[in-house]
Amino acid sequence: MNGNNKKVLIIGGGLAGLTAAKRLVDQGFQVRVLEKRSIYGGKVSAWKDEEGDWIESGTHCFFGAYDVLYDLMKEIKTYHAVDWKKHQLTYTLEGGNSFTFKTWDLPSPLHLMPAIVNNGYFTFGEMASFAKSLIPLALQKDAYPPTQDHQTFAQWAEEKKFGKRLMDKMFRPMALALKFIPPEEISAKIILDVTETFYRIPDSSCMGFLKGSPQEYLHDPLVDYSTRKGAEFQNQVAVDELLFDGTEIRGVQLRNGEILDADYYLTALPIHDLCRVLPASLKQHDRFFGDLDRLEGVPVISVQIWYDREISSIDNVLFSPDGIIPVYANLARTTPDYRTLRGEPFEGKTRFEFCVGPAKSLMGLTKEEIIDRVDRSVRANFPKETQGAKILKSTLVKIPRSVYAPLPGMEQYRPTQKTPVRNLFISGGYSQQLYYDSMGGAVMSANLAVDALTKAAAENGR
Ligand SMILES: Cc1cc2nc3c(=O)[nH]c(=O)nc-3n(C[C@H](O)[C@H](O)[C@H](O)COP(=O)(O)OP(=O)(O)OC[C@H]3O[C@@H](n4cnc5c(N)ncnc54)[C@H](O)[C@@H]3O)c2cc1C
Repeated sequence: MNGNNKKVLIIGGGLAGLTAAKRLVDQGFQVRVLEKRSIYGGKVSAWKDEEGDWIESGTHCFFGAYDVLYDLMKEIKTYHAVDWKKHQLTYTLEGGNSFTFKTWDLPSPLHLMPAIVNNGYFTFGEMASFAKSLIPLALQKDAYPPTQDHQTFAQWAEEKKFGKRLMDKMFRPMALALKFIPPEEISAKIILDVTETFYRIPDSSCMGFLKGSPQEYLHDPLVDYSTRKGAEFQNQVAVDELLFDGTEIRGVQLRNGEILDADYYLTALPIHDLCRVLPASLKQHDRFFGDLDRLEGVPVISVQIWYDREISSIDNVLFSPDGIIPVYANLARTTPDYRTLRGEPFEGKTRFEFCVGPAKSLMGLTKEEIIDRVDRSVRANFPKETQGAKILKSTLVKIPRSVYAPLPGMEQYRPTQKTPVRNLFISGGYSQQLYYDSMGGAVMSANLAVDALTKAAAENGR
């Protein structure tokens, strides 16, 4: 027990904040979590609409690589709710075609052989030229991607001269699915990092879905666990500013006028909200804080459409390079608790959830216009299956600033969890850790922030 009942204020009740709360109560700290919204979970949050259907901030796939997340779920006894799917990735195409990257149950890199020699779409020549472009990655391993943060993935691909079809059909939806920005914007480092991990760790690209809502299997159990151990959770409480006295944080100013103080402060905010609560004096005090203004959030749109028939029977994540649905899934297949519509069973039909992107140019459109465009993408990808198909319900969530945008040159500005201010620690997907802005990243950032805070508390003895 290192906490010795010292007080920690956690600002933000997304996955990073909830993870930090659990880790800190486990260490004996006295924890209070402040969350602006009425629900916890941030970008992974879900809520029921007035008809009783779950609405999600976005489709959340669980990558095999997120060990830290599964350790956490095992501790709160909800790991059983991750439903692992077949280890393959299917891409659907305009006109009704599709192709699938399969894997074999063999050690790396042999597990990727079927994806290279028999994916049913790209020629062996195309895959061989791609494999050749990865030689530096194979030789230098994880030391290579950081050397490529100066350029976009499209520039890197141009330099390596691998085919346009691979870029358009495989990497465009991949970049949009990972960080909601296209290859012409995303740093080459990100795609190369992910490729290196998929290449090195066979199970890392395997995908899972939760059996139901993240509220039931992640956030509520985390809040309950920490509450039982004495943590205090307050929602609908927004922090307006961290109060900095020139040396350390003296308190937080809430929007309702109240001031709260603690021994330590741990932020778990989206990057734009963190920049908003940091006072100018702190940003001027140290470049560490001033540079955070360079990071920004990406817009993204999530859409659900219930159709009156089964359009895809694939029980897994789907990618599409054609239209505006780079990544999607039929939740009526992937997510057993979601086989419902307005509280009634919804078997053998389709409840698609889409990540719509790139969203920048779509944010100003109405719900009807966006649903119409998504529906047209679906009909283009499944011309036969959608003949006569009717939409029974649709929902839409717009997030103007979601995950941070990993543009070229931004890696250097991702903050460490330990800051130059003795009693201030930072967590969140954009802070430095292996998994970028993702569920695994949020959990890892919280683990690292708590490690740094615990160490500081032990050293300071206060
Ligand atoms: C559409 C979409 C799809 C995604 N898909 C995947 C996926 O498939 N797999 C994956 O691993 N990741 C995915 N992600 C990314 C993942 O959701 C995030 O990386 C992760 O949830 C970030 O967690 P966080 O706790 O760092 O931040 P957040 O979830 O943003 O939490 C921050 C919290 O701080 C609160 N807050 C903000 N301002 C204040 C304030 N002033 N005072 C108090 N509280 C405040 C917010 O309300 C929020 O609850 C997706 C994200 C989106 C948007």
